[in-house]
Amino acid sequence: SMTTKKINFNAGPAKIPEAVMEKAAREFLVYGNSGISILEMSHRSADFTAIIKETEKLMREEMSIPNEFEVLFMQGGGTGQFAAIPLNIARGKTVADYAVTGTWSDKAAKEAEKYIDIHKVFTPTKPYTSIPSYSSWERKSDAAYLYYCANETVHGIEFQTPPESHPEVPLVADISSNFLSRPFDFINHGIVFGGTQKNLGAAGLTVALVRKDLIGHEDRHCPSILSYKEMHANNSVYNTPSVYGIYITKLVLEWIRDGGGVDKLFATNQEKSRLMYDIIDSSAGFFSCPVEKAHRSHMNVPFRIGGGDEALEATFLKGATERGMVGLKGHRAVGGIRASIYNAVTLDETRALVDYMNEFEAANRK
Ligand code: PMP
Repeated sequence: SMTTKKINFNAGPAKIPEAVMEKAAREFLVYGNSGISILEMSHRSADFTAIIKETEKLMREEMSIPNEFEVLFMQGGGTGQFAAIPLNIARGKTVADYAVTGTWSDKAAKEAEKYIDIHKVFTPTKPYTSIPSYSSWERKSDAAYLYYCANETVHGIEFQTPPESHPEVPLVADISSNFLSRPFDFINHGIVFGGTQKNLGAAGLTVALVRKDLIGHEDRHCPSILSYKEMHANNSVYNTPSVYGIYITKLVLEWIRDGGGVDKLFATNQEKSRLMYDIIDSSAGFFSCPVEKAHRSHMNVPFRIGGGDEALEATFLKGATERGMVGLKGHRAVGGIRASIYNAVTLDETRALVDYMNEFEAANRK
């Protein structure tokens, strides 16, 4: 029952809003007048066709997607898009610019390198804690695109505004972990994509927003399921799509709309992240977040305790579990703690974590 549910700080798949889960549960066995479950329904049925159309409409409205973009519902995750991007939009060019700011943009560059030469616009400095200022980026004027990860889920680094660009070199943005968490500025973008398993529902669905003029140029080796042209020509039902995933995303988009839209979410997300960074920064080093303040994520807050005292961090995680909080263990690449505070995580749930951090500090500060 709902009373046994925990506070979920998972990085993805992650918390889905209660109202969405309850509606999905009510509609689970029998959808509308169909007499069957969505899980049992043909992807070419009238019921599902209505669902996918409505999902696209809501996505366009809630994200203010410009008309020159197509909304494609795909599979293969963000990882599939790492390959789909060069396969679809190289357009005869031999090099692409990459801004490597963490694990995910690094993986994207490595995957793309199978299909196109990669040029890093700055030398990544590890550990990842910052984004070099745009004026220092070395750009290739003949690049097919400039790739960046809008929010690095592992390292907690977020672009507060898109990189500067010019219309000739389209921006490609991975928004897997900050999808609809803040208003998005599409200017100069060619592709904006992300999986839905963090802010938009279940795992198994990937949304690619692709500018129309970039569709239809794919490499002849591009698999059909990664082809923007095929997906677009077939209204995202070239093959069997993630039927249930699309339905859940529709419910999440309705929840966003009914809650006051993306501006409202962003205001709440800013307040949630401010609470987190305030306690970290006011703890005189007991808690520490290595990310430069200007680039800190509103969605994923990584931090260490006691300067990286693993025993103390284990004690913290144990206490969190006892308080019904799950998903706080940091990614193995960085260790420590990571609180993922996606759209569905409420202000009160964030406060509960902050209260625990306060208590923990009082009890354990040496
Ligand atoms: N990009 C980002 C920013 C991510 O956080 C993730 C997954 N955590 C991915 C890409 C990869 O997504 P997927 O697992 O859907 O392939």
